[in-house]
Amino acid sequence: MTTDPLGPGAIIGILGGGQLGRMLSVAAARLGFETHIYDPDPAAPAAKVAASHTAASYEDKAAITAFAKAVDVVTFEFENIPTSALDAIEALTPIHPNRTALATSQDRLVEKDFLTGLGLTCAPYADIETAGHLAQILPIFGGGILKTRRFGYDGKGQLRLGPDDDPSDAWDQMQGTAVILEGLVPFTCEISVIAARGQDGSIACYDPGENVHKDGILHTTTLPAKIPARLRSDAVLAAAQILNALDYVGVLGVELFVTPQGLVVNEIAPRVHNSGHWTQNGCAIDQFEQHIRAVVGWPLGDGTRQSDVTMENLIGDDIDRLKDLAKDGSAIHLYGKSEARPGRKMGHVNRISKS
Ligand code: AMP
Repeated sequence: MTTDPLGPGAIIGILGGGQLGRMLSVAAARLGFETHIYDPDPAAPAAKVAASHTAASYEDKAAITAFAKAVDVVTFEFENIPTSALDAIEALTPIHPNRTALATSQDRLVEKDFLTGLGLTCAPYADIETAGHLAQILPIFGGGILKTRRFGYDGKGQLRLGPDDDPSDAWDQMQGTAVILEGLVPFTCEISVIAARGQDGSIACYDPGENVHKDGILHTTTLPAKIPARLRSDAVLAAAQILNALDYVGVLGVELFVTPQGLVVNEIAPRVHNSGHWTQNGCAIDQFEQHIRAVVGWPLGDGTRQSDVTMENLIGDDIDRLKDLAKDGSAIHLYGKSEARPGRKMGHVNRISKS
């Protein structure tokens, strides 16, 4: 469903009230919109900067229905939204990005079938249904990573296996969850493309950033990525192909491995993405404004990179470095979370190194 362009004063409903919802709300407010956050957590970071907040379960049909009636369009900041909530909303209010994009990215097997169906290269993968099947495939792949098909993020729900590891032990550890086995990709670096598609089908891609992970969580994104121009183009073309195939509206993150043989697509995220936070200080129009523009039916903005940037996530007690960071010229973005727990994303900084 496409929507008529919304004007200032319209209300954008956002499912999920974490830091992504918070930064979307700030961008929406800059354009004159109001946001209404739906998140069960009464202390959701996004709720503190939004006009309204419904703190109810995603299974609460009455609350979801009232939310859908109260807003002009709905978007989301995370993938794992229960189908029942989407059904209830869709009957009343347009949702961007669409259900196909969500369903595709929610399940690693569906996602890999979709990507390879487009002719893009993914790691070798196999749907694993029994311990015996794993025992058969593991030596063929020469080891690999067993990944849950659904609900994995920041490296969670993953088990690395060597070719000689005990498959039945690995199978038991997954406790009956649906899994795939992925072959290990010998990558030289990891990059991501943040790409947007408007309701008129126009596409704008940000320059690919180079990502470094620590303990499975994104640590830094650096622009420009140290890759040849040819691969930069390949990455952007792959993102555009994915957006068109999904008839997508909004911002999408595409994570890729760089190998000597070319690019391998790791996964897609149908939302604004942590590796796109650099755009807040590196571009005239950042990924959050770009997403809001797409969702409300406005033309996409100029996402040309204007400087070299390194984004660093502040995880857990990294936040204790705040005083130093405040002095060193970094642009600081904090999420308003009161308690710093290990592994919790508290904020990020963007360092501009050249104009
Ligand atoms: P994911 O949750 O699939 O994004 O995986 C988290 C991280 O694990 C990635 O950013 C990579 O560093 C690593 N990884 C995941 N899949 C593979 C693979 N097939 N080969 C090599 N490294 C991988």
